[in-house]
Amino acid sequence: MLILDCPYCGVRAEETELTPGGEAHLKRFGPGSDDDDFEAYMFARKNPKGVHFERWRHAYGCGKWFLAARCTATLEVFGTYPAQTAEPPADIVDKIRARRPDWTLT
Ligand SMILES: [Zn+2]
Repeated sequence: MLILDCPYCGVRAEETELTPGGEAHLKRFGPGSDDDDFEAYMFARKNPKGVHFERWRHAYGCGKWFLAARCTATLEVFGTYPAQTAEPPADIVDKIRARRPDWTLT
């Protein structure tokens, strides 16, 4: 079972207390962008077997959205952080690189 620490209330929440929100750190394109960028923003999502950054909501807790870095194959969690964070925090990136030397941030 996936277990994530909510960065807001500090609760160690099981997957059943959380709601998934899809891929994190999407680059948004709005009016005036070209069709390919807008289509990619709307529909293209990564689905890696390995390290992935995701949005989660502590639905049956504090109700806030947060981001998590985890491995989709092993459910290893590298860390969670507030949803307002524009890019993965350096300490989490360092932790991923220590555990997965071949991984690159794309
Ligand atoms: Zn919470």
